Amino acid sequence: MTLFSTLDPTAPLSPDRDLFIDGAFVPAASSETFATVDPATGATLAQVARGGEPDVDRAVAAARRAFASGAWSRRSPAARKAVLLKLADLIDANVEELALLESLDGGKLAKDTLQWDIPGTAAILRWYAEAADKVYGEVAPVDPAHLAVVTREALGVVGAVVPWNYPLEMAMWKIAPALATGNSMVLKPAEQTPLSALAFARLTAEAGLPDGVFNVVTGYGAEAGQALGLHMDVDALAFTGSTRVAKLFMSYSAQSNLKQVWPECGGKSANLVFPDVADLDAVADAAAAGIFACSGQVCSANSRLLVHRDVHDALVERISDRARALRIGSPLDPATDMGPLVSAEQRESVLAFVERGAAQARLVVGGSVPADLPTEGAYVAPTILDGVATDSELFHEEVFGPVLAVTTFDTEEEAIALANSTRYGLAASVFTDSFARANRVSGALTAGTVTINGVDALDVSVPFGGFKQSGFGRDLSLHAMDKYTGLKTRWFSG
Ligand code: NAP
Ligand code: MG
Repeated sequence: MTLFSTLDPTAPLSPDRDLFIDGAFVPAASSETFATVDPATGATLAQVARGGEPDVDRAVAAARRAFASGAWSRRSPAARKAVLLKLADLIDANVEELALLESLDGGKLAKDTLQWDIPGTAAILRWYAEAADKVYGEVAPVDPAHLAVVTREALGVVGAVVPWNYPLEMAMWKIAPALATGNSMVLKPAEQTPLSALAFARLTAEAGLPDGVFNVVTGYGAEAGQALGLHMDVDALAFTGSTRVAKLFMSYSAQSNLKQVWPECGGKSANLVFPDVADLDAVADAAAAGIFACSGQVCSANSRLLVHRDVHDALVERISDRARALRIGSPLDPATDMGPLVSAEQRESVLAFVERGAAQARLVVGGSVPADLPTEGAYVAPTILDGVATDSELFHEEVFGPVLAVTTFDTEEEAIALANSTRYGLAASVFTDSFARANRVSGALTAGTVTINGVDALDVSVPFGGFKQSGFGRDLSLHAMDKYTGLKTRWFSG
């Protein structure tokens, strides 16, 4: 059975993919390419242009020209809205192509990309398109002899560098508010998953976005990504990825033109389970989803389970049952619950974390490559380690795979202190049947999003982002539109 009705998911892709600059597909200046791979099979899907500094220069110059021309930046917000709504419709109209590219390139479940990732991407764009003509400026309460008008101005050229776990959706978290506010953009997708960004670029031209307003430079982080970060004519850099690379972007800014950098980084999100919860099965369902969805490659994944001693055994048993029941396999198979990781390198990195962790903790389930799957596939079994010490690597470091670290607590104070004791602060969950405790504990957690009796709540209407080294670049909600604009005051004197 196939999930696709309009295309054959096994048909080979067209082999070459160029950069998208100034409204046209062009090869890299060096003519070099790199292979993008299907992590379920290890097969090469396509050769993609390996963009470098000269290509970033070309793309930024095109974006700057487009911005200066006013063709987009000075168009009325209502007119921008119309183009972006058309673009959102085109995403929906091409949902199968985009979903298949996401699934092939990143190993993501096709049932998810078809139902959630791509429709969700269109919905985000639509939301910001609708917001474009609903944001007002201010008149400041100055001396009546003057008039001070405060407006939010587009910044100019925005660079976006994004990861591979939700390739188009993460990009859209940047693209939608940046374009809605009138900026031009250069996007650098992750090297593992460049294909959906290029297919989307084609749709921007179809929707009538003026040439140069949106550009895609595929390539490696240390080449195209760095060139964008160091560019003297990029006004802001929106980044989602690891804390390590976020720090590089902060230094690129310091070394170049003091561009604004908006880092959205990883996490080690805690799931706090208190003994007053009546329905442990519901907690187990949520906890398993929180760490095994998208093979654990979610920045806000609930990768630490902090559980009260009284419910520890019962809960760990229930989550382990769910881990064992997951069907692991091809992302294109509708019966699959968990697909591969994004790459063989990521599989090796995750397995190494597990091996080091298992030397200090009890491996309850998983920890290996599932036996019955192709060895070229980047598969890792859902894994649970219990008794994880609070000073261990597994307690503190982001694994970015289907690996749950379980630690026991005795008091509420201890639970809060443990939850807050990593350098991250992206998300957390609290499971309790006491409203007073939910309020107390959620208030004490240092996390950008705290979900009560659930995991990973998310909506375009609420801000997403973290504290501490999870970064400070809130995405989503109307607040994100502030990131892509600068305050400007005009004084009128009589
Ligand atoms: P990553 O290694 O930090 O890469 C992210 C992006 O930065 C990629 O496009 C990458 O290019 C580029 N890059 C790498 N090295 C660079 C360099 N030296 N200079 C400039 N750019 C460079 O992260 P990832 O492994 O793709 O993604 C996983 C991370 O993203 C996790 O930490 C996860 O928590 C985080 N994440 C956060 C959120 C959030 O909203 N907070 C959402 C999703 C993921 P290449 O592809 O060529 O390496
Ligand atoms: Mg790939």
